[in-house]
Amino acid sequence: MSDKMKSMQQAEDVLLHTYNRFPVVFDHGKGVYLYDTEGKEYLDFAAGIAVCSLGYGNETYTESLKNQVDKLLHTSNLYYNEPTTQAAEKLLKVSGMDRVFFTNSGTEAIEGAMKAAKKYAYTRDGHAGHEIIAMNHSFHGRSMGALSVTGTEKYRTPFGPLIPGVTFAEFNDLESVKKAVKENTCAILLETVQGEGGIYPATKEFLEGVRALCDEKDILLILDEIQCGMGRTGEMFAFQSYGVKPDILTSAKALGCGVPVGAFLMTEKVAEKSLVPGDHGTTYGGNPFVGAAVSTVLDIYEETNLLSHVKEITKYLEEQLDEIVKTYDFITARRGMGLMQGLVSTIKPVDICAKALENGLVIISAGSDVLRLVPPLIIEKNHVDEMICKLKQTFSEINL
Ligand SMILES: *Cc1c(COP(=O)(O)O)cnc(C)c1O
Repeated sequence: MSDKMKSMQQAEDVLLHTYNRFPVVFDHGKGVYLYDTEGKEYLDFAAGIAVCSLGYGNETYTESLKNQVDKLLHTSNLYYNEPTTQAAEKLLKVSGMDRVFFTNSGTEAIEGAMKAAKKYAYTRDGHAGHEIIAMNHSFHGRSMGALSVTGTEKYRTPFGPLIPGVTFAEFNDLESVKKAVKENTCAILLETVQGEGGIYPATKEFLEGVRALCDEKDILLILDEIQCGMGRTGEMFAFQSYGVKPDILTSAKALGCGVPVGAFLMTEKVAEKSLVPGDHGTTYGGNPFVGAAVSTVLDIYEETNLLSHVKEITKYLEEQLDEIVKTYDFITARRGMGLMQGLVSTIKPVDICAKALENGLVIISAGSDVLRLVPPLIIEKNHVDEMICKLKQTFSEINL
């Protein structure tokens, strides 16, 4: 048995089998390339599921983390620490929100957002019992709370009963959302661009309509930008290109560019009536280590003008992908915003992903029929060309 096979078998012997992993053992990364334990190079258009926006080995980033490791990793939230305060200031500035709570994951950010909305309504109305509207085909995480608002039946079914008081509406269908509103609805939760569900950007009319509906009925709009935020669409947060602002915002994935950190943010209006000491907490959340990571990530975004770069390279990527749609019958459409793109495929996307890996290209799927491209935000034209080349190679082999 090869070392690689041994390594894979070792993992399968000890890890709970919750993933059907691709047969690759990654070892290190540089720029937008990953290398496996045998030294094979892979062009990465997945970024660890939209996490590694800065690619691999960014010196400013790794230096900052190393410094913080030497200074202090953790203190708990019983005390103050400067890196996290700085991270918060910078995150509020780029998001336009007023208050932030740092979590360890996206799922926890969703949990916090749901609790914040419920507490707001509780304070306002003087009683509990409020409900949340979420969207079909949404994805918000795997905990009992986040699962309760995740609009994919098969993820939820084995784990019922989930938290009550969740109604699902149709994404991009304002009428269905209006129909779902009840007397006690406290929040409408949606991804500005649906990720796992198959890369569906919200339409402008839909987002504006939901915002107006929320304003009319004092319902809180929670936007989940765990995947589509942090520059992925060319704005720091996707909602910023719609001119619609949420009351509560969730972030994670690229927030720490590889360090496990998430956040839920809110406006002062929500914060005034929401979580207070005793209502919510976390041991790790927002420790100095992740604070330094977030703070440095935001500095790098600014110093390198990363958002302009994303906007520019997006045009090129979209052109090239549109050519692919024209060329291959089994690729029926392209959807997406910025560097969050999906190709709709009639051939099973996981089969294409597996073949692409053999050709040294990392891509992933979304939903059951979408090839998802969420590369590091630092990709250049030549990387797009290389990706297209490897994708064509892959398609030619799939067709046999
Ligand atoms: C990934 C994801 C989550 C869950 O985040 P985790 O860090 O995996 O807990 C929630 N919402 C969206 C939109 C996501 O893409």
